[in-house]
Amino acid sequence: MKNLLSLGLACGLLLSSKSIGADPALMADSNKVAAVEYLYADVSDANTILAAIDSGLLSNYQGKDRRAWEQLYGEKRAKLTKELESLPSAGLSGRDTRALAVMRTQMKAFSGGGALFSPAAKCQDAARKDVAYPNLKAALVACFVEIGNSLSFEGSKINRVSALDLLHETSDAGRRKAIFLAFVPLWQAINGNNEPDSPYRRMIAGAAAEAAKNGSAIDNAAHDVGIDPPEVERWLVQILDAWREASGDDMVEPWDFRFQAGEADRLLGTYIPRESLQPINERYYRDLGADLEQMGTLYDLAPRPEKAALAYTEFVTHGRLVNGAWRPTVARVSAPYERGGLFVLNELVHENGHVVNITAIRNRPAFVDWPSDLFAEAFADVPAWSTYEPAWQRRYLGHEAPQQLSLRALYSVVMLDVAWSLFELRMFRAPTTDPNALWTEITSRYLHIQPHPEFSWWAVRVQLADLPGYMVNYGFGAILTAEMREHISQALGPFDTGDARWYGWLSEHLLRYGSERDTHTLMQNFLGRPVSPQALLEQIHRLKPVAPTASSFNDRHRSVEPIDP
Ligand SMILES: [Zn+2]
Repeated sequence: MKNLLSLGLACGLLLSSKSIGADPALMADSNKVAAVEYLYADVSDANTILAAIDSGLLSNYQGKDRRAWEQLYGEKRAKLTKELESLPSAGLSGRDTRALAVMRTQMKAFSGGGALFSPAAKCQDAARKDVAYPNLKAALVACFVEIGNSLSFEGSKINRVSALDLLHETSDAGRRKAIFLAFVPLWQAINGNNEPDSPYRRMIAGAAAEAAKNGSAIDNAAHDVGIDPPEVERWLVQILDAWREASGDDMVEPWDFRFQAGEADRLLGTYIPRESLQPINERYYRDLGADLEQMGTLYDLAPRPEKAALAYTEFVTHGRLVNGAWRPTVARVSAPYERGGLFVLNELVHENGHVVNITAIRNRPAFVDWPSDLFAEAFADVPAWSTYEPAWQRRYLGHEAPQQLSLRALYSVVMLDVAWSLFELRMFRAPTTDPNALWTEITSRYLHIQPHPEFSWWAVRVQLADLPGYMVNYGFGAILTAEMREHISQALGPFDTGDARWYGWLSEHLLRYGSERDTHTLMQNFLGRPVSPQALLEQIHRLKPVAPTASSFNDRHRSVEPIDP
C-alpha cells in the first residue's frame, strides 16, 4: 500500500534541468504565493523526514537529528500557518487559488512524526465499550502489530505476512489448517466472538456514521471513475461473477484456497530467496527505465517487532526546483519481510510502483503529492502484475510457471481484494450486518470457499481497521490496473521483460501531474475514453476452465494475445 497520510513529490529522468527552469507550470503565478509555497515544501519535507526517523529507518538526515528536525518543523509550520492566513485571496490566478486550498488542507494532515501504522494505542483498549471511534480504530491497528507480528505456529512466532505466504506454500493440509488457526487470537481481538458490539462492529458503525457525513472511500472511487456509487457494486459483482465461472465448481476450505491457487508460487519459490527480492526488483525497474538506486530510494525491508505490520511507501523529501534545477523526490519503502517467494516479490514490485509514481511527479510544491488512493494503488500494480507473466519469470527468475497457474495465482489474490471491497461496501451500507455471515456469503458464492462463519477470517488486512473502505482501492483499483496495462501495451508494446522508454513515457503521459489532476480526468485523457471493467474481465477470461480441452485454451489464448502478450 502507499502511505495515506502524506504529501508528495517528483523525479528526475523526464526533462533536462535546463528545460525545467523555464517551465512556468512548476512555479506559482504570484511571487507571494511562490514564497509561501516554498515554505510549505520545507514543512512538508520536515514532516516526512520526521516520519522516516520515527519509523526506525534513520537517526538523522541531512546532518540533522530528530530534535533539530522537530524544531525546524515547529518553527516553519507556525510561520506557514500565519502566512497562509494573511495571504489575500483576491487577485490570484485560478491555479494559485487551488494550490492555496490544497496546502491549507494538506497541512492539517501533517503529523510532525510518529511511526506510521504502528500507533501508540494498545490492542486491549479495543475491548473497551467506551472508546471513541478514532481511538477504537487505533486500538485495532495496534492489535495487528501486537498480535499480527507474533502469531504462534509450531512452537515459534511468525508474522502475518509470513503466515499468509505459508498458506500458499505448505503442502500438508493439516499444517495449513494450523497456520490458518494461528490467526484466531488476531480475529478475536478484532471481532471478539462476532457479537453485535464486537470491536470491529462498533468500529464499522463509527466509520459508516463518518462516511454519511463526509463520504466514504467507495464514494471517492466512484467519483474517480466518473460513475454513480451504486454502479461500483455492480462492477464488483460482475468481476466476481466472471471469476466464479472461470474458476470451476469445486468448493475448497478457506485454509486451502491460497494453496490451491498458489501452485505458481510453489514452483518458483525456491528461485526467490529473501536476499534476491531487492536485486530482482531493481533489475526489473532498471529495464523499465527507472534506476531506483540512482533515485536514492531508501529501503527498510527487515522485520522488527514494533515495526508497521504491512508494507508501505512514503516520501522522504519532495522534489522541487532549486535554483532552476529539479531536485528529485526521495522515497522510502518499509516492509516486514522474513521470507522470499513470488507473493512477497509481487508486493515489493507493487511498493516500487508507488516509488516510481511519486518520483515521476513534476509539479509545483502544492501538487507534488500522492494522486488519489484509487489511482495510486491501481498504478502500483501495473508493473507488479508482470511478475505473474511467464515472460517476466523467464527473464528475471530464469524459470517460469505455466501461464494458467500464474494467472490463477495472481487473480485469486486480486479476487480476494474484490471480495473485501464488496464486503466493506455492504458493511458501510448496513453497518449492523453480521460481518462473518456477509464474508461467508461472498466467499462461498463467488470464490467457492466452504462456509466457516464461526471464524472472522476476513480480518487479516490492516486496512480493514486502519482505513475502513480502503480495500476498494485494491479490488476496484484492479479495473484501472487492467485498463492501464492494456493501454500501455497497445501504445508502447509489451513491457513484461522491460522497455527503457516505459518510465519516461508514463511520467510524461500519466504521472507528472501529482495531485493536481483528478483521477477521472487523468484516466479519460490517458485512455481516450471512460474507464470500463472490460479489460479486467478479459484478463479473467484468459483463465481456462479447470478441466479444459486444448482447443478451447488455444482459442482463449489467441483472443487475448494482442491485448497483453
Ligand atoms: Zn500500495
